[in-house]
Amino acid sequence: MNKKIAIYGGTFSPPHVGHLHAASAFLRQESPDMLYVIPANIPPHKKIISRDNPQLRLRMTELAFSTLEGYGDSIVVSDFELRQGGPSYSIYTIEHFAKESPNLSMLCGTDMMLSLDTWYRAEDIFRLADIVYIRREKEVGMTEKLIEKCRFYREKYNARIRHIDVEPLVVSSEQLRARLSAGEDCSAFIPEPVLDFIRQNNLYGYKRIDDR
Ligand code: ATP
Repeated sequence: MNKKIAIYGGTFSPPHVGHLHAASAFLRQESPDMLYVIPANIPPHKKIISRDNPQLRLRMTELAFSTLEGYGDSIVVSDFELRQGGPSYSIYTIEHFAKESPNLSMLCGTDMMLSLDTWYRAEDIFRLADIVYIRREKEVGMTEKLIEKCRFYREKYNARIRHIDVEPLVVSSEQLRARLSAGEDCSAFIPEPVLDFIRQNNLYGYKRIDDR
């Protein structure tokens, strides 16, 4: 029997409780043999901060996911996209992991799910991976938009799409970068070892209380 594996890509700048919430809800619902969490080297669909350092994002992602307990060895932070270098087009990652097992899913949030058809080689992404998405916004009307988009993906790409039915946890890295640079408390949203790392490396314009 083929192993059931999954990938969860992102920028993770910084990783936050929304990412952990998504991964643990995914693990509970889907019970894969392995979930690979994969920080992008250069994310093609996102603006990145000017002094971005993929190695530091990888380290923060490792620290963040090390705080998730109860999933044994079924979750691994992978440096695959960093080792590839250049812009991290998901299809290359999917092709790589599909060789490990054709029973492959990709976890993403609604923002990514809604834009998947604009991604490089979208038809191959849908062919090689099941898409499992999790809500991250509370906006009214979002559901209709999502249902419509899923219908479109199924019709156009024969997509296999599943939804993780949990309460959304509304938080984003962008908000947290702003809060960190303003010196606000982020301990409810960023795991403690990641916050320590941010402080030690003075990331995101983090201000020490006594510097202000
Ligand atoms: P930014 O605010 O910089 O755009 P982000 O918070 O969206 O970053 P990413 O690292 O880009 O974080 O996200 C990686 C993946 O995790 C994406 O599929 C995204 O949709 C998903 N994700 C991010 N935040 C949440 C959340 N709060 N709940 C569920 N999924 C999330």
